[in-house]
Amino acid sequence: MPTEAVLPESELRSRVQERIKDGRLPVEFITLINGGFGGGQTCPVCDKPVTRDKVEYDVVDPRNADHLIFHFACYVIWQRECARRIRAGDSER
Ligand SMILES: [Zn+2]
Repeated sequence: MPTEAVLPESELRSRVQERIKDGRLPVEFITLINGGFGGGQTCPVCDKPVTRDKVEYDVVDPRNADHLIFHFACYVIWQRECARRIRAGDSER
């Protein structure tokens, strides 16, 4: 499965932190995920389209029920950041 990151992990992590700060990404554990191949939507982490040859992770933002379509690698880094913040009791959103 083509799951490689489109940007270096350190770059993705700083983008995730920015997106959480400006409210585009929630700090939540996601339990319901639809996986599949991309349909060209823009990934909210790296701002690049999730193309047909990449795996997409489609999650529902619990704040507003919007769909967020991530690259697999971007999703993993976002959820890792959420886990770190939730564990640390950091509610900064
Ligand atoms: Zn991405």
